[in-house]
Amino acid sequence: MSSISYVKLRLVAAGDGSRSGREEAPSSPAVAEDAVPIRRPPAPPPDSLVMVINGETEGSSISGFRSKNPSGWPNLRGRILMFERHGVVGGRMATVTISGETFEAGASILHPKNYHALNYTKYLNLKRREPSSSDSFGIWDGKKFLLKTITVRSKVPIVEKMVSLVNSVHLVARYGFSLLKMQTFVEDTVERFLKYYEDVEGRPVFESVEGMLKWAGLYNLTRRTLEDELIGAKLSPLLMRELVTVITRVNYGQSISISGLAGAVSLAGSGGGLWAVEGGNWQIAAGLINRSDVELHLPEEIESISYFGEYYELNSTKGNIYACEVTVIATPLDELDIHFTPPISVPKRKLQHTHATFVRGILNPVYFGMDDVSKIPDLVGTIEDSDLPFSSISVLRQHSEKDFTYKIFSRKPMTDALLDDIFRVRKETVPINWGAYPHYNAPEVFAPFILDGQHLYYVNAFENAASTMETSAVAAENVARLILSRFFSKASLSSSNLQSSTSSGEELHLDL
Ligand SMILES: Cc1cc2nc3c(=O)[nH]c(=O)nc-3n(C[C@H](O)[C@H](O)[C@H](O)COP(=O)(O)OP(=O)(O)OC[C@H]3O[C@@H](n4cnc5c(N)ncnc54)[C@H](O)[C@@H]3O)c2cc1C
Repeated sequence: MSSISYVKLRLVAAGDGSRSGREEAPSSPAVAEDAVPIRRPPAPPPDSLVMVINGETEGSSISGFRSKNPSGWPNLRGRILMFERHGVVGGRMATVTISGETFEAGASILHPKNYHALNYTKYLNLKRREPSSSDSFGIWDGKKFLLKTITVRSKVPIVEKMVSLVNSVHLVARYGFSLLKMQTFVEDTVERFLKYYEDVEGRPVFESVEGMLKWAGLYNLTRRTLEDELIGAKLSPLLMRELVTVITRVNYGQSISISGLAGAVSLAGSGGGLWAVEGGNWQIAAGLINRSDVELHLPEEIESISYFGEYYELNSTKGNIYACEVTVIATPLDELDIHFTPPISVPKRKLQHTHATFVRGILNPVYFGMDDVSKIPDLVGTIEDSDLPFSSISVLRQHSEKDFTYKIFSRKPMTDALLDDIFRVRKETVPINWGAYPHYNAPEVFAPFILDGQHLYYVNAFENAASTMETSAVAAENVARLILSRFFSKASLSSSNLQSSTSSGEELHLDL
């Protein structure tokens, strides 16, 4: 991709409004009527049970990997039970409805090389759409725009092309060859990540996040900050302070002191060819659950997990007790209060809270030193300055000349007083406080995939590498293979390609 197309497409990444979504549970994934809870003392399970304490991308991926047998995987004995504490599936793939229209509230964009998501979308006959593009983009420092692209609203292709060219020249003039260096850094990282899609015949199963990252050549990127990586790649300080910072603030609500890997993922999420699922990304999770034979318990929250030598006992807030031989935790443990017996130990990790505030109304041009709202860019990004009260404001949809739906990302809640300053008209406001993703801190320390040395698995250990729908699916696939290789006997498997790689990277043949 040339720097010019990069620049053009970056603006596409900025606006991510989705056209529709959902309020209620998606087309009723099978609720397990037959999953009879066991009363204490539970008998050892008569059959293998795999419990997934929910994770939408991951849990559904795990069940999806089994249900559709994508790589000729064996048919396994046993049932999969899945628990979701809320009344709907989707987790951080959620929608918000404002003034009767629905938009992505959490995970909104997918990369063109997110192959699991692409395959699921095809398999489920879902439609892809382009995220709505921001026609104009500006970098706000709290007093003025450091950079503002020009906007000429025209449907004439030649005019559009000219405007795009002028904007690209403008960006190249400001950041020079650093734009190309940044692009090379991102492409190198994406290339390494593609190793996770190689044929399972030659791809090991990983027992640790470190081993998984080392195998793809990504581990070192988690040891240093994005800033250090980009200094190493000889990017100009101006590009890092402005464009790169805007992107990490939009995508992870954090500065360029996040790890190099999270940073590269964030930068990749602002490139070209981005897409989303028409009607809401949550349909991937819902569709996979629907198509698999997983027994979904909704809403049912797991509050404790105890290991009794041969099986795990799971207690839910409904007073139900379930026994199972394998348990998968596919949600971040950081802000949860699940009680483990015996206790487990995971490194302390802070979640970055992102406040997503959706507003139907119209911005106040005076706040931005303008005389007309049309002069405010569709995407307002910001640099690092503790006085700045928001990370970004983007137009999700323009309803008329003086009627818009906006999305604001901020690290702290937006108060009414502040919103009244920023907006001239506010018809409706919907705030959402997300425990969004890890607060990245290089060098990263990873929790284990296997929490107790037995069969208690933790998919979200991988989120310290990067948090996206696709990385969740990639980690889930590995955990699914790990369960196959560690738990299911050779006799029940039709494939014999499952090797395990330890954290030291050395190959270790497990049960197979
Ligand atoms: C604002 C925002 C923007 C984002 N933008 C993007 C983006 O554009 N592209 C992208 O790829 N990613 C994006 N992400 C990240 C992405 O959403 C996550 O990485 C991904 O969805 C993680 O999925 P998951 O399955 O691990 O967890 P989650 O989606 O968080 O699912 C975990 C589920 O477990 C349930 N649960 C928790 N505890 C229990 C319990 N004890 N019992 C039962 N159920 C329980 C929760 O209710 C939740 O539904 C964004 C995230 C946020 C917040």
